[in-house]
Parts: sequence; C-alpha cells; structure tokens
Amino acid sequence: MSDLRICVLGSGVIGLTTAIELKKEFRNASIDIIADAFYNGITSFAAAGLFLPMESNSGGSVERTRLWIRDSYNHWDSIRLLPESEEAGVRQLSGHILLSEPPKMGWNKLMQNLVPEFRSVTEEELRQCQGNWRYGNYCTTLQVDPTRYLKWSFNKVKNSDIRIIQKKITDFSQLLEGNYDVVVNCTGIGAKVLCDDKTLFALRGQVSLVKAPWVKNFLYGEIDTYIIPTFDNVILGGCRHFESYNLAPNLYDALSMREKCENMIPSLKNATLVEHRVGLRPFRLVTRVEQEYKSCSGKNMKIVHNYGHGGSGVTLAPGTSLNAVQLVKDILIERRSKM
Ligand SMILES: Cc1cc2nc3c(=O)[nH]c(=O)nc-3n(C[C@H](O)[C@H](O)[C@H](O)COP(=O)(O)OP(=O)(O)OC[C@H]3O[C@@H](n4cnc5c(N)ncnc54)[C@H](O)[C@@H]3O)c2cc1C
Repeated sequence: MSDLRICVLGSGVIGLTTAIELKKEFRNASIDIIADAFYNGITSFAAAGLFLPMESNSGGSVERTRLWIRDSYNHWDSIRLLPESEEAGVRQLSGHILLSEPPKMGWNKLMQNLVPEFRSVTEEELRQCQGNWRYGNYCTTLQVDPTRYLKWSFNKVKNSDIRIIQKKITDFSQLLEGNYDVVVNCTGIGAKVLCDDKTLFALRGQVSLVKAPWVKNFLYGEIDTYIIPTFDNVILGGCRHFESYNLAPNLYDALSMREKCENMIPSLKNATLVEHRVGLRPFRLVTRVEQEYKSCSGKNMKIVHNYGHGGSGVTLAPGTSLNAVQLVKDILIERRSKM
C-alpha cells in the first residue's frame, strides 16, 4: 500500500466504474467507497442499460462529448469480450429506433462510426412496425444490464481491497477525518444537495420488468416508449417527470406505459409482471466532470466531480470515469511539483 488515499463518494454505475478505473491506475492506493445506498436503492438499478448516446449529452464541447462516448463504447465492448461478460451483464443487442421526424444527421454519423451496424430502416421494416412511424434506424449496440453489472462491479471492487463504507455525507468536511488526498464525487442526484448545485434536476423515471422471452430485439419509440430485453426479463418504459422525487412506483404510469408498449408489440399482453423500478435521472445541461479545490474547516479539499449524467449514465460511465481518473492524476502531479 502506498500512502495515497482516495475516496469515491457514491456506489452507482458511475462510482463503481470510477473506483475500478482508479484502482487500475493507482494499484497501491488505499481507496474507500462511501455511499448511503447500494444496488436496488439507487437510480442505476432502474436503468434499461442501453448504450444509446443522446443528442442532449454534453461534456461542454463536442470533442469532449465524443471522446466520452467513444471511450465508453470501447470500454463496454472490451467487457463484452471477456469470458465473464454474461456475469457482468454486457452483451450486443439489436433493434429499431422509430421516429416521426427525420433523424438528426450528426448523431447518425456518430453512431455509424461507433457501433457494428447502424442504418436507416427500410420501407418494409416500417410497414411491419405498429404505429405511424415515418423514419427510423436499425442498429446493433450494447446493453449493460444493471441488475448484473452492479453486482459484478461491486464484487470486483471488494476483491481489489477497496473498502466499502455505508454512510450519508451531508457536508464534505465530514470526509476530512479520512485524510484523503482526493475525493471523487459520484453522487448522482445526491449532488444537488451535497454541492448545492441548482443546475442539477431530477428526471424521475419508472420502468416495468416483465417476462417475455420471445422479445429478442429492442424497440425504441419517441415520447419515451421503449421495450428492451435484458438477460432475464424485458423492460417496458418509460417516463420523465421533472423534479419529482417520488420513489414509489405509480400504478397509473405503469398501466399507461404498458399500453403504449403493447401498442408497439401486441404479444406483450401475455407478459407477466416481475416488478416495477423507479429512479431519479441526475439531469444537468453539461455533465460535471471537473476539479474543485474546496475550503473545508480551514483545509483545502481536492474534489473531482463526476455527476449529472441524466438519462445516459450507463452509456457514459466509462468515458467520464476515465476523464475523472485523468483529473485525479493531474491533481497529484500538481501536488508533487509543489513539494
Ligand atoms: C427508468 C430509467 C431508465 C434509464 N435507462 C438508461 C439507459 O438505457 N441507458 C443509459 O445510459 N442510462 C439510463 N438511465 C440513466 C442512468 O440510470 C443514470 O444516468 C445513472 O444510473 C446515474 O448513475 P449515478 O451512479 O450517477 O447515480 P446513482 O445510481 O443514483 O448512484 C449515486 C450513488 O451516490 C450515493 N449518494 C448520493 N448522495 C449521497 C450522499 N449525500 N452521501 C453518501 N452517498 C450518496 C447513492 O447512495 C448512490 O450509491 C436510466 C435511468 C432511469 C431512471
């Protein structure tokens, strides 16, 4: 063990991915993950886990956003090629994205250069899809099943000597006693209060998991209607409720989402319900991956923020985590040069 001490705050897809990357970079460092909730108590558990960058994703510049997306795809794809990919919950998944407006060409180009297959739908495919869809794409992308990935990455973290501490942090000064050289803040929507970030908003989402093993491909329609098979279930979604913090499943939402999904694939009427899941997407116009030197009780705390991934946290987790690790390195290099 070196005397380098790092704290990762948060144990969602962002915190766990960041902790794994930090351990790769600083093998001998002592790393703690501190979080008040894990696994099924957090937003990441509710994600459908489709690798699908959105037009709204932003790292502040086009170049940085594209780098995050490219790094993320390559990272997830490298896990897909591991012998334990099923346990990690990462696989390829094909399906249709259906639209009533023409697709945005910039976004299409980005996907075309990234995933193994991305093309416009044919007239024949459009005819076969239920609904009044006029445009669309067929693509093969990746899926990261959070039910599996959160378990796999948590075990990986535990097996690499990273300490897990369950605790709610209401002020960064509570972390002073840990004598950390750097704190990496991956608290998702929790950052709204912790960092008093008025530009961070909750977009409440809800999905229903059903048994429908005959659904093999994903189907993504506008107005947040999607049907996404995972390893064990099929996810029916979804909705976006601005600044709603209600974590209880709403049965009216569930019924309305199910109806929209059944309109797209009528055989879903025969699917049995497994459970509902709810999560609060941490939405921010620009995902916050940046350093902050914060004065806490007279001491200078070095923080690297990594939060605000909105509806794309699974998609962007590896790219933003690698960026956060680089920022930690920069802080440590700067500190060494001052010694
Ligand atoms: C219905 C739904 C579907 C989605 N589908 C997709 C999809 O298909 N593809 C995609 O890319 N993304 C999807 N998302 C978005 C994705 O789930 C989120 O962007 C992602 O989970 C955010 O991860 P996170 O680690 O930042 O947050 P979380 O998973 O919420 O983790 C935050 C962690 O920080 C801890 N924490 C917070 N505050 C504190 C505090 N004060 N003290 C201590 N610990 C704290 C929490 O306990 C938790 O461990 C979806 C989201 C929803 C809701």
